[in-house]
Amino acid sequence: MTRTGTTVPSPITRRGVCLVISAPSGAGKSTIANALRAADPRVKHSVSITTRAPRPGETDGVHYHFRSMEQFKEMAAQGELLEWASVFGRGYGTPRAPVEAALSAGQDMVFDIDWQGHRQIRAALPDDVVSLFVLPPSLAELERRLTGRASDAPEEIRKRMDAALDEISHWEEFDHVIVNAELDRAIAETQAVLNAARLRTTRQTGLADFVASFWG
Ligand code: 5GP
Repeated sequence: MTRTGTTVPSPITRRGVCLVISAPSGAGKSTIANALRAADPRVKHSVSITTRAPRPGETDGVHYHFRSMEQFKEMAAQGELLEWASVFGRGYGTPRAPVEAALSAGQDMVFDIDWQGHRQIRAALPDDVVSLFVLPPSLAELERRLTGRASDAPEEIRKRMDAALDEISHWEEFDHVIVNAELDRAIAETQAVLNAARLRTTRQTGLADFVASFWG
């Protein structure tokens, strides 16, 4: 190999990125995460465990793994959850094994989890996590979006509005923050955060041989 050679990097063997997206319910984080996945086959969604009931249109194993509280507690006790938290009085958690498999295969994972999960996953995987908080354009707009989601009862919506303010109070713990006033822009900004994380020098270990070849 010479300085004028045309060697291209061997298939990049970089570790996957954990992109944690948090937001109050109704700020649009699921829509953003879905768009990211649809646009890029390298992005996988971490399917959480939950003890809440499925909403209309939700499928077990796709949107969540729906489990009983006993099953959830058993998984947590066995160390099968990378992180877990109680949200709205129900259990939510991230299965550990799929995350470890994806990251070592160089696949990026998007996590739609709350601030408690973010803290835990950052502590567990400090070199892999990049995090993003999605703010709604206003509290009034957030309430409008939550009310428009007919699947939840008014009591549930009120609880979610209280929880929204609690979630928002943690926004400064995240690496990046966006305001989802315009969906296309929010998606592009999220994609930019993911791309920058992928390109971090510390993540590009697969490029070492390629760069070394410049010196023959
Ligand atoms: P929902 O019931 O509306 O799908 O989700 C309620 C909240 O639980 C959202 O803020 C969501 O981000 C959070 N959540 C969903 N899955 C997980 C998880 O695996 N871990 C944690 N910590 N939070 C989760």
